[in-house]
Amino acid sequence: MCYNLTDNSLCTEDKNILSVIDMNEAVKEKTAPLVIGAVIAVLVFLLLMCAVLYITGDCVLIHMPQGESLAVECGETYDDSDVKAYFKIPFTNMGLPLELSRMGYVDSTRVGTYELLYVARFMGIPHSAKRTVTVVDTTAPEIVLKTDPDYQADWLVGYVEEGYTATDAADGDLTEKVSAKRLDGAVEYTVTDEAGNKASLRREIEYQLNLPVITLNGGEKLSLCALPWYNDPGFTATDAQGNDYADYVKVEGQVDSAKAGDYEIVYSLENGHGDTVTAKRTVTVDMDDCGEVCEPEEKTIYLTFDDGPGSYTDTLLDILDAYGAKATFFVTGAYPEYARCIKRAHDAGHAIGVHTFTHWYGKIYSSEENFFQDFLAVQNLIYEQTGEYTQLYRFPGGSSNTASFVNYGIMTRLSQSLEDMGYRYFDWNVNSGDADGLTGAGSVANAIIRGCAGKNCAVVLQHDIKGFSVYAVEKVLQWGQENGYSFKALDTTSPGMHHQIVN
Ligand code: ZN
Repeated sequence: MCYNLTDNSLCTEDKNILSVIDMNEAVKEKTAPLVIGAVIAVLVFLLLMCAVLYITGDCVLIHMPQGESLAVECGETYDDSDVKAYFKIPFTNMGLPLELSRMGYVDSTRVGTYELLYVARFMGIPHSAKRTVTVVDTTAPEIVLKTDPDYQADWLVGYVEEGYTATDAADGDLTEKVSAKRLDGAVEYTVTDEAGNKASLRREIEYQLNLPVITLNGGEKLSLCALPWYNDPGFTATDAQGNDYADYVKVEGQVDSAKAGDYEIVYSLENGHGDTVTAKRTVTVDMDDCGEVCEPEEKTIYLTFDDGPGSYTDTLLDILDAYGAKATFFVTGAYPEYARCIKRAHDAGHAIGVHTFTHWYGKIYSSEENFFQDFLAVQNLIYEQTGEYTQLYRFPGGSSNTASFVNYGIMTRLSQSLEDMGYRYFDWNVNSGDADGLTGAGSVANAIIRGCAGKNCAVVLQHDIKGFSVYAVEKVLQWGQENGYSFKALDTTSPGMHHQIVN
């Protein structure tokens, strides 16, 4: 600014400047209301915007990071902690948290679709958002097997189910729907739930632990000699637990005791799995090898008669007398009225031996005590008739009998005891068949002749309580004498003709 020095007034330029200043002051005074108006307008605009946004809800956000549709596994808890509500401050990224409430429920134990409504309020006006929750079952049921540590599967019966359960998160107890399929050495359990999820489990079974064993009485090899019939010594079939399978054993094979040869008998057990346990016995029938044999020059037939004396014994003694033949009588006490025949036979030079007083296999072979009680009863009978005890003996059923299995090993012990006491027991090597299906004198005579033919020494088994057998004797005597045989009574030096003891 400049001043005129003469009048101390402002110079012209400065006057102009002053006038400009005055004008600026005037402009200022005029524009201020405009600015204020503009600010107010912006604020109003913002408020209007906010009101619009607010009314349309865009200022209130319900945030669902996991989405509006959601699947939850059955049995698991539905967790909606992800859902949050905010008031969003316009044109900013900031928000104020709002309280949120939920309408609806999710039953996570049941498969299904559940609609939920989340509501947030701002200034009393509600804002909402939907979420659909689907409870799904994609998990297989669980099978649990029960086991008994002491249980062992029975080989024959097979596995007996120990039990199991099956549960499913969605369907609950599915035990009844389990299919338990028997496989070889295992059980396979399967179950499928409503949603089609399948579970399976396998149980291994050790059947072989309890394998039964078939044990053959008398052993795997038997040698028969002129037995009237083949009577199988039998068997036992047990497992380690002592279970008895004997009733389930199938026996196959036959023995023709009248025909020499090797015969195989198969004993088998089969279970439902097709497993088998077998035992085999070879029975050799040898008509010529029955213990001791006579020297060639001593062609001898020892006729022996068991189970008498009886009503035919007198006739028999007459026939033997007529041919000058001697025989041996293994006697019983069954027919006391004919006990006198023991004396008659003895006095005529025939041999008398002990057979049995009762002929009751089940009793006499049940114990040594019972055996010798029976034995002594016959000895006493013989002594009463003859004034002597005998050293000759024949086992009921022969020493190879199998009736004695009521007491294991008793035949072995008895035969030894008798020999130790000085007795001699005799079996036979020719079977007349008179207790073995033959019922005619002619057929019995033929059987004896067939059996003796070719043998230098024959011990013939007959029963003098059977008429047809007694009537067969004359033909045998004739044939024997014509063929160079002599008919002798047994004594303690005679060939034993011992059968194989199987018990
Ligand atoms: Zn007898």
